Amino acid sequence: MSSQNDILFAKAQLHIPGGVNSPVRAFKSVGGNPIFIKKANGAYLYDADDKQYIDYIASWGPMILGHAYEPVINAIQQQATLGTSYGAPTELEINMAALIKSMAPNVDLIRMTSSGTEACMSALRVARGYTGKNKFIKFEGCYHGHADAFLVKGGSGMATLGIETVPGVSEAVANDTLTVAYNDLEAVQHLVALHKNEIAAIIVEPVAGNMGCILPAPGFLEGLRKICDDENIVLIFDEVMTGFRLAKGGAQQLLNINADLVTYGKVIGAGMPVGAFGGKQAIMECVAPLGKVYQAGTLSGNPIAMIAGYTLLNELNTNDDLYTELNAKTVYLKDGLAKVFIDKNIPVTINQLGSMISVHFTNNEVNNFADAAACNNELFKKYFHHMLAQGIYLPPSPFESWFLNNALRYDDLDKTINATATFTA
Ligand code: PMP
Repeated sequence: MSSQNDILFAKAQLHIPGGVNSPVRAFKSVGGNPIFIKKANGAYLYDADDKQYIDYIASWGPMILGHAYEPVINAIQQQATLGTSYGAPTELEINMAALIKSMAPNVDLIRMTSSGTEACMSALRVARGYTGKNKFIKFEGCYHGHADAFLVKGGSGMATLGIETVPGVSEAVANDTLTVAYNDLEAVQHLVALHKNEIAAIIVEPVAGNMGCILPAPGFLEGLRKICDDENIVLIFDEVMTGFRLAKGGAQQLLNINADLVTYGKVIGAGMPVGAFGGKQAIMECVAPLGKVYQAGTLSGNPIAMIAGYTLLNELNTNDDLYTELNAKTVYLKDGLAKVFIDKNIPVTINQLGSMISVHFTNNEVNNFADAAACNNELFKKYFHHMLAQGIYLPPSPFESWFLNNALRYDDLDKTINATATFTA
């Protein structure tokens, strides 16, 4: 008998490319059919067959306090009765911007968008407008959304699907995108010297989450900061994943490095379609209508999205124990999984910082995309399906970070560790 998931997937493919509205949802690299979600609550997802899953994706980051978080849901319901969009400014947007500025460093001005893609695309445009230069550096395996300029050696779904170059991105655009290995400061120095006075920006995930979770090597981000200072290059931290997740002030605060521009998404919208880019006054003053760098959005600063994001950020801002609790849970999971894999003689490297974590099947350290790609990713597929069958929903790709949410109880973490204990390679 077919499951409801399989029936829905067959139907979805008649109408939607690959049956999904974002590629990594399709289980393409792990095989099998995706599960269709009916509802979610706290740490759990429920599929079309009413099966419950412990969720380690958290909507790819946003649901840091769990699904259907009551204060957020109440705020959305209340705001919805007042209208869903006005196309004119609201006080909600001021409150949101002021709250973000009070939490995150180096944000003098901030502009809301409707996705992380728009935030990164706009930040790059601003950096180019500000410096008058065109080229920029990104790191192999980092993902900054699907704007043309970023679809070069991208992580996330591109890595998952093995797409190296994207038809539709013109050579002229791609030629301005320079790429180097993550954590390779020397290669950055070399590239900057080779393209002296041509580089507008360096964009980086300060903790990478789109090739699994990969931590910045000691000195890497500090080195980027120095190169940018010396060469009049704008340092953009893409904090779409790390913002408000690793700390109230994101990776900038946790790692104590100042970016010039910073992009946000995911947590900032509490599950509504929201992104933002902000940064230093002089750079952000280039943005229209103050300056000539045009950037806009019919639904930017949408009132329902703003109240949802504001409510969640406010909770994060006023709960002093939250990040400590979340980190402790993630370390507990890491230690539990590591012990199980050691007992089983399955070589793994588990990278973790704050509530971001990923399991790489390898004997080696995983410090960049080449390392992540060289892992036993066939084994990951087997592990993914083993866990899914036991009601544990991991990202369906080894090139994605897992995200913990604070609705997870230690009992859920124990179930996850115990389910891993029954895995055979
Ligand atoms: N930057 C990073 C670091 C991301 O992880 C993502 C999405 N996973 C994006 C940008 C793009 O965000 P969105 O999917 O909201 O467009």
